[in-house]
Amino acid sequence: MSLIVQKYGGTSVADLDRIRNVARRVINTKERGDDVVVVVSAMAGETDRLLALAKESAPEPDDREVDVVLATGEQVSSALLSIVLTSMGCKAKSYLGYQIKISTDRAYGKARITSVDADRIFSDLREGLIVVVAGFQGEDEEGNITTLGRGGSDTTAVAIAAALKADICEIFTDVDGVYTTDPNICDGVKKISRISYDEMLEMASMGAKVLQIRSVELAKKAGVPIHVRSSFHENEGTIVCEEDTEMEKALVSGVTYDIGQARVEIAKVPDRPGIAARFFEAISAANIVVDMIIQTSSLEEGYANMAFTISKADFPKALKIAHSLAKELEAQDVIAEQEVAKVSMVGVGMRSHSGVASKMFRALAREGINIKMISTSEIKISCIIDAKYTELAVRSLHEAFDLGKGS
Ligand code: ADP
Ligand code: ASP
Ligand code: MG
Repeated sequence: MSLIVQKYGGTSVADLDRIRNVARRVINTKERGDDVVVVVSAMAGETDRLLALAKESAPEPDDREVDVVLATGEQVSSALLSIVLTSMGCKAKSYLGYQIKISTDRAYGKARITSVDADRIFSDLREGLIVVVAGFQGEDEEGNITTLGRGGSDTTAVAIAAALKADICEIFTDVDGVYTTDPNICDGVKKISRISYDEMLEMASMGAKVLQIRSVELAKKAGVPIHVRSSFHENEGTIVCEEDTEMEKALVSGVTYDIGQARVEIAKVPDRPGIAARFFEAISAANIVVDMIIQTSSLEEGYANMAFTISKADFPKALKIAHSLAKELEAQDVIAEQEVAKVSMVGVGMRSHSGVASKMFRALAREGINIKMISTSEIKISCIIDAKYTELAVRSLHEAFDLGKGS
């Protein structure tokens, strides 16, 4: 007998028929003799709808209240699944985040889970119940409702799996597993049967939204194996686990893209010590996470240009700060771009091989795609390009590195 945490994403619970399909799968698992805890996302499109509603209510809605609104999406789907399970003869009980003490910090909209109380879940499991948990939400120290950022139900599932010391965390979604790139924008993609936490972490960080970044961080820390698979059939998906000798040692395992980024440049800041510190202190005080930073200075003119990327959600705040600091620091201009994308190549093989960067730049150049920023780490290379070339870039890179089925 195993203890399994299963998470079903928005498309898997999009309507009552799909919720019934999920219920059947959960019951099959239970009938095999395993204990099951289920985590659900909101029904497809619901979180977007709620977010739009909050933004329509006021131009800058209060972050605390937005989280209260957003958390209702998962409240509905978790209770519906529990009702359907019970109607199919399987006793179930749904819980919101705070009811099973999913504690978080207070970063509304991107809160981090600090602890999960497993006692209540264990006591229900002992009574033979199926426990259904609303994903994506928690509660801070003062009892405020928080949400975990887009895709956060993955993290709820892994956090619960870690707290319960579950045997596996299964992430059911609308694709068959983790592929060499997003199967929805590129043909001939290949499913990766096993991938290391580190590689998956880079792919998620670089935009492969099939798993939320924090879920992979947490799984690595707690040693929880993840199985990413389809909720529509029984095929094996992708196992995310510690790097082992059975894993394919591909030079590059995947191409990712992220269209959720924006770029801000402060042009011609007088080049003196402390400028970058002053600027990024203000950005970090506003709880904004900066991704890439490029500073260039011109020795003759005594100016520096500072460009950085952030998520689109943080763009209005970052731009406000950039304008006010540009004034204070006597910079000449602020240039802002929202129509940018980040494309990345990820692979542990890059640790020991050179030439990936040049091949990547050549492939983009062949398509006439201009690179605006570049950043590298041990196992990835990323380029910021014009958003309109995203799909073209992904397909060209996938082909240039022979990542497809035939390879
Ligand atoms: P869910 O609602 O089930 O959480 P998501 O939409 O969050 O599903 O994540 C699944 C989607 O991730 C897929 O439909 C696919 O478009 C996208 N995706 C991006 N990169 C990859 C990749 N490398 N492999 C698989 N899916 C990917
Ligand atoms: N419903 C949330 C979202 O759409 C969380 C999730 O689906 O994981 O981002
Ligand atoms: Mg998701």
